[in-house]
Amino acid sequence: MITTALTELLRIRVPVVQGGMQWVGKPPLVAAVSNAGGLGILTALTQPNPDALRVAIRETKVATDKPFGVNITLLPSINPPDYEGYARVAVEEGVRIFETAGNNPGKLINFFKSHGCIVIHKCTTIRHAKSAERMGVDVLSIDGFECAGHPGEEDIGGLVLLARAAQELKIPYIASGGFADGRGLTSAIALGAAGVNMGTRFMCTVESPIHQRIKEKIIASTEQDTIHILRSLNNTARVFKNGVSKQVVALERRPGGAEFADLRDLVSGVRGKVVYEIGDPEYGIWSAGIAMGLIKDIPTCDVLLRRIEKEAEEIIDGMRKQIKPMAKL
Ligand code: NAD
Repeated sequence: MITTALTELLRIRVPVVQGGMQWVGKPPLVAAVSNAGGLGILTALTQPNPDALRVAIRETKVATDKPFGVNITLLPSINPPDYEGYARVAVEEGVRIFETAGNNPGKLINFFKSHGCIVIHKCTTIRHAKSAERMGVDVLSIDGFECAGHPGEEDIGGLVLLARAAQELKIPYIASGGFADGRGLTSAIALGAAGVNMGTRFMCTVESPIHQRIKEKIIASTEQDTIHILRSLNNTARVFKNGVSKQVVALERRPGGAEFADLRDLVSGVRGKVVYEIGDPEYGIWSAGIAMGLIKDIPTCDVLLRRIEKEAEEIIDGMRKQIKPMAKL
């Protein structure tokens, strides 16, 4: 067993968090991750309104008696969501672990902390991480350039970003972006992290609620099959490289660039949702990280987390053996 500040704080067995994923972080996956010993996280905005989130929380509680959390992401949206309503409902339903992400999270963080909740805040720069630390969050999720979805605009890879976190942060942090296996978990721990956050890897599990053809597409793809969209609007997102995302980038790069209105119908999350429902990877935009290159199968969450634990333990043992003879020289 790998015990860290994260496993102790959250009372979980494996230091692995399933991060918020639009249209993917639904009760069956969340419960499966928590039952497997990690921390499952429901994505609030995947539910059409706060009452639907209430139903999803109740459904998750029926499926697991282990801790799970709720993600609320504050980013530009075509239809601005009722963030406060989602937060209130989750607290009313007894959720005590939250993952926050995005812009201006102060009000939300204060609300959760005033209700005694644990807050994991996702950041893509050390400056934002230190600011969230001052706001009183409990854990930082340090999200490197490798990640799916919104990596920020600075393009700092996990290797340096996590080492910087080790230099600068006082509270525990987990590593996010590019993690999919025991080797990644071990590296994250070496870089001072108390665990990892995984998204794309969990999309490709038996319990993930997306179409089988999309899971197979992830396996068939490599680390070269993602692309950044919306960079010209300072709202960069790493998504699967397909005809739609390439068209978005082409519009952004044309002389004079593009306004959001020119891109809205192409990038709409509602269209991305259909990708997962009908299993057509070309239908719209869908998030994927470069960890895709590491994914070769569709295990259950239980098999996946046991494998990650075992791999990490073997690598740590192997490193000890490798280092000993060297020390004698
Ligand atoms: P959406 O359909 O509202 O928007 C699609 C994309 O366009 C998103 O990347 C969004 O950030 C961006 N966008 C919207 N309005 C914009 C504007 N005026 N200027 C620049 N960019 C703009 O998004 P959705 O897929 O329905 O998701 C709803 C919200 O959840 C969005 O804010 C999205 O970024 C966020 N999200 C959350 C997660 C998560 O893990 N929790 C994952 C993906 C997206």
